[in-house]
Amino acid sequence: MKIPARLLEEAKLRCSPDAECPALLFGRGETVLTWSWLRNVLNSPVAFLLDPEEMYKAIAEAESAGLDLVAIFHTHPGPPAPSPLDLRYMRLWPVVWVISNVYTWETAAWRFKDGRAAPVRLEWV
Ligand SMILES: [Zn+2]
Repeated sequence: MKIPARLLEEAKLRCSPDAECPALLFGRGETVLTWSWLRNVLNSPVAFLLDPEEMYKAIAEAESAGLDLVAIFHTHPGPPAPSPLDLRYMRLWPVVWVISNVYTWETAAWRFKDGRAAPVRLEWV
């Protein structure tokens, strides 16, 4: 999956270890073109939850611009591997999940496949 390097630059400026920091990534196919930062309504350092209304609005705006939801981004206070809770949501939202360590910015991408998270190759553009 191709992602603009600017996503991580923005994440470094706006995300802190105080709360996981989610964004919806929009584009076409395997290419991310734009994104929306959304609130983490849990305001938790170890989990995130999106506001359904904000989420709907972001998706509707992107769709009206001809873009699809292609990935979900969020930060972790540790390794960028899906948590058990992430896996539950990944099953429901079978897009690519991009996770960044909020301390080191090590980043990995995953897709739910055959009952588990399979790594997805990331290319920063
Ligand atoms: Zn997570």
